[in-house]
Amino acid sequence: MTAPPIAPHSDAPRSGWIAVWGRFLWTTPLLLSVAFTALVVAWAQDNDRIERETIKRTVMADTLSLEAQLAGRIETETVQLRAAAVRLPSPGPDGSRQLAALPEIAAGLDRRWLSVVWLDTNNRIVGEARRSQRTGTQRLPQGEGITLHLVAATNDARRPQTGQLIARYDPADLIQSKDFWWLAAQYEVKLVTGLDQVIVSTESPGRVAAGESYEMAFTAIPDARLRLTRRTRHLPWFSTLPVVLMVGFLALITVATLLLRRQISQVAKAEAAWRSEAAWRQSLEESALVGLRARDLDGRLLFANRTFCELVGYSLDELIAQGPAVDALIQTRVGTAAQRGRREGYETRWRHRDGRFIDVMVFESPLVDGLGHQVGWMGSIVDVTERKRLEELERRQREVLANHARLSTLGEVASTLAHELNQPLTSIVSYSAGIAKALERKPDAEPDLVAAAQALSRHASQAGGIVHRIRARLARRELVLEACDINGIVSDAVSLLQREIRRAGVDVSLELDTHLPAVRVDRIGIEQVVSNLLRNACDAMTAPLHGKKMRVRTGLCIEPPVDSVLGWITVEITDQGPGLGGKDIETLTEPFFSTKQEGTGLGLAICRSILESHGGVLHARDLPGGGARFSFFLPTDPTTTEVSHP
Ligand code: ADP
Repeated sequence: MTAPPIAPHSDAPRSGWIAVWGRFLWTTPLLLSVAFTALVVAWAQDNDRIERETIKRTVMADTLSLEAQLAGRIETETVQLRAAAVRLPSPGPDGSRQLAALPEIAAGLDRRWLSVVWLDTNNRIVGEARRSQRTGTQRLPQGEGITLHLVAATNDARRPQTGQLIARYDPADLIQSKDFWWLAAQYEVKLVTGLDQVIVSTESPGRVAAGESYEMAFTAIPDARLRLTRRTRHLPWFSTLPVVLMVGFLALITVATLLLRRQISQVAKAEAAWRSEAAWRQSLEESALVGLRARDLDGRLLFANRTFCELVGYSLDELIAQGPAVDALIQTRVGTAAQRGRREGYETRWRHRDGRFIDVMVFESPLVDGLGHQVGWMGSIVDVTERKRLEELERRQREVLANHARLSTLGEVASTLAHELNQPLTSIVSYSAGIAKALERKPDAEPDLVAAAQALSRHASQAGGIVHRIRARLARRELVLEACDINGIVSDAVSLLQREIRRAGVDVSLELDTHLPAVRVDRIGIEQVVSNLLRNACDAMTAPLHGKKMRVRTGLCIEPPVDSVLGWITVEITDQGPGLGGKDIETLTEPFFSTKQEGTGLGLAICRSILESHGGVLHARDLPGGGARFSFFLPTDPTTTEVSHP
């Protein structure tokens, strides 16, 4: 009611998978990132596969296309050679001139052929034409130096069996043609024999083609194969940029997740600590015997604990609903600024819901917010009604005792005066009576003198009567006898004198026999006796030289102080003061005997007369180790056999 409800501690059992999920919630970003990365990897792999297939198909298509184009060219050259062969004249003595004279041969040599040889049917050279003869330069074949040749038969329908023309050409010239620049940029082109001997290649030194490769039979040249190899290697899927980025991303997410986990665990710890603290605070507030309240500067109640609510009899909601009028409700007298600041608090009186007044001690201190600004007052309220009641009771008891002591003192004084005046007054009465009688017998006696003597005698006996009456009235106070527990009387006296005992720095130890029978006494009188003896013991130990321990013992008396059939109880008060210096009880109880500067010397005398009026006895003696012991004895009450308990 007085504080916001506290949710159960985070460790409180939360069932099933929710609890597990809650504990591993921090892994969610990492798991999602891993799943996302896995998807990206799968996508990259699939993409890679498709790309590889595409590349493979492209290489294949490019190889087929190149093979077709190269074959086409060779076919064209062959056709050119055939055309030249057809136009050859019949072999003459200078076949070489005949060959060179043919424009087709000249065009072929200019174009691609390195040389043309004319063989007759017996394979004897009829003539030869070389490119070098035309250009004057010796152009060597490139590549491996391998040359290929084209053959065209010169025999046709008009001139059967005339021989054949063989044209040599450089295959490198064929594949390194500028027409295939786009292929050369992408591929390394090789013509190889069946035994993998390179016929020609576009391979450039220091630049190895490592990509996809395709090879097929090159139909234009028997036993030759055409091979295309991509110059650039296709990057595997795991070394592509997205995958590298994803790995980096995953690493960052892992770090971020670990940081998140640390943060979450710190927050969880802080939350757990906060919850425990709140729970402790709540139980502290709930169990506190002190009322707690917080108010804003306008006097509105912000918070109050259960004790406060019970103190005033209103619920927290009712008090808060009052707003600034809450003080009027419980008739709070708002403390002044000076009172509020006081550490020792201030006392005031409030009204409970049921109308009764309660005395409270209010301790207030400024209520400060997180920025250090005062936002109100925090107050602790202690209910002192009971304490005040007890104080009042104690005060009254003290008054009664003091009154009793005063009366006893007066009684003792009166008794002493009566005792001391009795003798002279009796003498005055008898002498004045004798004088009056003697004067009466004398006839010449002055009547005035006789009357005066008679008045003197009358007044003297009147004075004696007055003194006796006063003594009877004060000293012989009617005893109010009742069955009492002597331990209770002793305890009450000790607690009544608590302040004086504390002031004297005396340490009192009580050894009370809990199995004592009751005594039939005047409670106030006996309490006065015990108080007097306690006070004397404290006074005796005030000097710093002396010990500070006082022992108060009650018990059954084994050796009765006087011959009696009754049982006796004893009360002993032992101190560590200077002792009695050998003085006996008679001296100590003499009226007006005192060694104290402000002493009346009547205390022990009164004690003795009170005890004696109960049939009791007072003893006092020095102790061997120093200090004094005063003890008194009282007969037990024969009418009650009850065992008393303190
Ligand atoms: P007061 O206390 O006024 O002197 P009391 O009759 O009570 O009168 O005591 C008389 C005297 O007895 C004291 O002045 C003191 O000298 C002596 N006396 C009493 N109690 C003790 C004690 N416990 N130790 C030493 N002396 C004591």
